[in-house]
Amino acid sequence: MKLALSILIATALMYGVSAGIQGAGSPLGPGRKYSTIERLQPERLRAVHLDRMRYAAARHEVTLKTGYTDYRAILHAHAEDSSHTGGTRTELLQAALKAGVNIVMLTDHVRPGRDFINDSWKGLHQGVLFIPGAESEGFLVYPRVSTASNTWKTRDEYIKLIKQDGGNIFLSHAEERLDWPQDELDGMEIYNHHTDVKDEGEFNIWLRGALTNADRLRLLQTALTDYPEEVFSAQQDYLSAIIGKWDRDSRKHRLTGVAANDCHHNQVFTVTVHDENSVDVEYITSAPTKTTITANQIEGVRRLVSGLKPGELIARLDFDPYERSFKYVATHVLSANLSEAAIREALAMGHAYVAHDWICDSSGFAFVAMKGSRKLAEMGDELKYEGGLSLVCALPVEADLKLFRNGVPILTKNGNRLEYKVTDSGIYRLEAWLMLDSESRPWIYSNPVYVRGN
Ligand SMILES: [Zn+2]
Ligand SMILES: [Zn+2]
Repeated sequence: MKLALSILIATALMYGVSAGIQGAGSPLGPGRKYSTIERLQPERLRAVHLDRMRYAAARHEVTLKTGYTDYRAILHAHAEDSSHTGGTRTELLQAALKAGVNIVMLTDHVRPGRDFINDSWKGLHQGVLFIPGAESEGFLVYPRVSTASNTWKTRDEYIKLIKQDGGNIFLSHAEERLDWPQDELDGMEIYNHHTDVKDEGEFNIWLRGALTNADRLRLLQTALTDYPEEVFSAQQDYLSAIIGKWDRDSRKHRLTGVAANDCHHNQVFTVTVHDENSVDVEYITSAPTKTTITANQIEGVRRLVSGLKPGELIARLDFDPYERSFKYVATHVLSANLSEAAIREALAMGHAYVAHDWICDSSGFAFVAMKGSRKLAEMGDELKYEGGLSLVCALPVEADLKLFRNGVPILTKNGNRLEYKVTDSGIYRLEAWLMLDSESRPWIYSNPVYVRGN
């Protein structure tokens, strides 16, 4: 899916009303003190930035070793796959190299006449592993071979087709599919950036206004120059309904939680002088689009064009280059090596965790089941309950840790290590939250360790 921002802006610019915009005035999400608009003010951005620098300075290597290499993966990435996508695969690769991303799993929008497996990138490109796939039928699908000549009648048939010979499939945009069964899936998106942007009604109205308001435009330009990652992350929330589904459905069987960047590099807005009385606003919606707005429609336009010539650039706001999106959230995959087969297997097994690395690099995070000094299970693994079992978690900085059993918090603690003596079977997972500008933000979501009863 594409980010909702440009649709909302297109609607609002053309009709000058807040048609289709919902969610204004909704209560603040878990951990928040500030709305997204408040988070965009210079003093807030600066405070967040300083806290991030403090975490970077305090960061240390995690001594608890899992025995695997921690690879950073991007699931749900769009490039060259639709008229509403602004970015290319070459751009994706450059961004991966800059952001320290090891794996890019593409999710093309399916188009007739184009094979999303055979007409895509596969294998290593300058050391970055590409796995082609699609966003299709409500899922992220990564079949092993092309499915272009296959047909299917039901959802179950489609899932079977994708999983054939070791393909992977994850539920996508779970907020639209809270009642879908997940029995045959590898996992689900537990965080999706697009989902998080969709509920930002008030912010979207504010942003619409900013494109024809000199003061707000200047504020955004300065913010994007000085604090690009803080601006990109201003809407970050904890998606409770989706996490709730994950907790419920993983009671039945293993279900790997993954992150969806849903990146398109299409949140780019250009404002130029049309004539002495109007501006052109360009953006990407269902296709690259240009709208002319006159001072009669919006008074603020007069000030924007004052003293400038037709064609002169007033502002260019680029919110979502791939590199910024990659740093914002990633799925860390714990694997022995970077082969496609090993990564696919690790994702199916749940040897993975989701992290908002823009707050602090989470690499090395560990959450394991141990007996004495012996490691018995990794995130995603199942093991039988036995006496003397403990869960151990270790992190590169001190954080607010929350241990859940069957979706219910059973232990909270601040620190860079947590140990819990297991006294019962259950699905155990861990969240780590970090303080930024005196707000609590979700940082790491472990996959569960599944302790089974006898
Ligand atoms: Zn998408
Ligand atoms: Zn899209």
